[in-house]
Amino acid sequence: MTIDINTAWDELKRRVSECQKCRLCEKRRNTVFGEGPETDCRVVVIGEAPGADEDIIGRPFVGKAGQLLNSILEQGGNIPRSSLYITNTVKCRPPENRNPTKDEVQACSEFLEAQLLLLHPDIVVTLGNVPTQALLGTKQGISNLRGQWLEWRGIRLLPMYHPSYLLRNDSRAQGSPKYQTWQDVKALKAEIDKLPKL
Ligand code: SF4
Repeated sequence: MTIDINTAWDELKRRVSECQKCRLCEKRRNTVFGEGPETDCRVVVIGEAPGADEDIIGRPFVGKAGQLLNSILEQGGNIPRSSLYITNTVKCRPPENRNPTKDEVQACSEFLEAQLLLLHPDIVVTLGNVPTQALLGTKQGISNLRGQWLEWRGIRLLPMYHPSYLLRNDSRAQGSPKYQTWQDVKALKAEIDKLPKL
């Protein structure tokens, strides 16, 4: 029996919207599934967790960190946000914007993995420690891993700093996190340009 891809997406979205697998369901207003091209997807960007704005609106990266992400992608790399699929490691907002705990990440991992399997992108970009450590199964920090081309299940993976971290570290001096992120997004664009046309 073959399963229609649209049916698989609908079913996954329904399961996330009704999910009560971890305590993050208790205070959420909305689940934040993710958005972007569901077919012919080249690049998936994965953040940590929805924040207050995302929880209200139900879309990923719509607050200040999202605005910075858009600007990094579009001004730094000439990569339109609309060309990327954007989601988070966990789909519900942790209270007070704390990081999701390991058990919350684990509980939500089946949804992220299902998204990645349905999208089958050429490149995954992980923003910050949470998605990077979850997908790579490492305890190494983002400052060690950022800018390296790694791999998740045969898909190329590029860790970068999370835009929330860059909002708190505003320097653009050479070697600063913002400077390094500018280098990373240029490297990302160079790799996107090398992908065979669909
Ligand atoms: S964070 Fe993920 S696992 Fe936890 S309730 Fe939300 S959708 Fe379910």
